[in-house]
Amino acid sequence: MNNPAIIRINPLDNVAIATAIGGIGKGDSVVSGIVAIEDIPMAHKIALCDVHPGDSIIRYGYKIGTANRFIPVGSWVQEQMLETPEAPSLDEIKYSAPIPNPVEQLQGFTFEGYRNEDGSVGTKNILGISMSVHCVAGFANHIITRIKNELLPSYPNVDDAIALSHTYGCGIAINAPAAIIPIRTLHNLARNPNLGGEILVLALGCEKLRPEKITGEEAESDILYMQDESLTGFEEMMQAALQMAERHLKKLNARKRETCPISDLIVGMQCGGSDAFSGISGNPVAGFAADLIVRAGGTVLFSEVTEVRDAVEQLVARAADEEVAAKLINEMKWYDDYLGRGNADRAANTTPGNKKGGLSNIVEKALGSVVKSGSMPIVDVVSPGDRIKKKGLQFVATPASDFVCGTLQLAAGMNLHVFITGRGTPYGLAMVPVIKISSNTKLASRWHDLIDFDAGPVASGEKTIEAMGWELFQLMLDIASGKKKVATDVLGLYNELALFNPGPLT
Ligand code: CA
Repeated sequence: MNNPAIIRINPLDNVAIATAIGGIGKGDSVVSGIVAIEDIPMAHKIALCDVHPGDSIIRYGYKIGTANRFIPVGSWVQEQMLETPEAPSLDEIKYSAPIPNPVEQLQGFTFEGYRNEDGSVGTKNILGISMSVHCVAGFANHIITRIKNELLPSYPNVDDAIALSHTYGCGIAINAPAAIIPIRTLHNLARNPNLGGEILVLALGCEKLRPEKITGEEAESDILYMQDESLTGFEEMMQAALQMAERHLKKLNARKRETCPISDLIVGMQCGGSDAFSGISGNPVAGFAADLIVRAGGTVLFSEVTEVRDAVEQLVARAADEEVAAKLINEMKWYDDYLGRGNADRAANTTPGNKKGGLSNIVEKALGSVVKSGSMPIVDVVSPGDRIKKKGLQFVATPASDFVCGTLQLAAGMNLHVFITGRGTPYGLAMVPVIKISSNTKLASRWHDLIDFDAGPVASGEKTIEAMGWELFQLMLDIASGKKKVATDVLGLYNELALFNPGPLT
């Protein structure tokens, strides 16, 4: 039951989404026998039948809420008319191995990347300066400015120099169990494939987080302490830092792109500023492209625990084996406890913008959000801050906060980011290209130089999910190869890294 005015995803659904840019007008006939009894804005829901108090509101074939009043056919279904269901119980989910569904493997697709000694592949060639404590962040910013002005012009193969700034490192309960998350995140961020294995760390000297926790066993690492007694004054420290940077720049500058198989691509999927279109156009297109990456041997990461919590049964059913299912449930339990300690639950996720964009509650948001993971089996679950160990589709357990999720996906090893938005966000990361997808053409037209890919033609029926999924897949390869640039790289529009620190401060 789809026409240009509405989209209904699943035959069981008793609501559909208004897809026309102007929404639906009172008196409009949307399908035979159903006439809108009031104006309904774009991306919002219309009732396809009379819904009585206590009846389920069904979207994507799942219950997104219980009606708390009579909702006549043709009316605008708004958030206050739905009671949010309880989150599915994690203790009652039973695992059964997925029915094998052999899909054709894709052969012959490649991209041009920078091969690293550890086997990983970069899509950019960046000098990254890590730090063990925020005290040195101002110094790091000075160093980056001097590197860009004085050194980078002599090293044309290096794309950028960035400081991996964060507010962690001291004034923290370093031995608290939860400290493992920010510490391993910093270690793995420094190992991101786009930094080429060249690890240098600015340290202060007296901080709790010892810089060796960041460098680990990596051979090519350097640590500069501002409190080093052999250094007198700021300029001497600066010269020491520039010398250290230049040693690494020389190695990075010698790197050349080479042809790499898709199995070296690690694509992080995320959404932010979602609307009800995200689950119709942007996320299904991203999910189709995610399947193509996995079928070609590559890796896709998806995350955002609070946005998939309500779809946990679907995810457990896709776990490749019982161990993966158990890991998935454990991460969800850990997050339920984490939220509970703050007297919150997953319903705290939705924003005023989500609701204005037609998403009534977290259940509706989750069912649309999980679509961007595609349909392949989940081969592993990665704890926050850890680096991936396998290839294929994996769940990286992170908060849904765009910056925290992005930072943890970088730590997991992401070398290409896909970000779907409906409301619009200028989100960008310096470390990897961020392909921004709009779920609706209205946004893509207004933000014509901020959006990289418009999935809106799917919502309007002009193009199929499959056709747009292939277009996105090709764009991903071009961007990973450096043949095209994303909007945030053209504009230099970057957000800060944001560590996930569930541990106490002192
Ligand atoms: Ca997000």
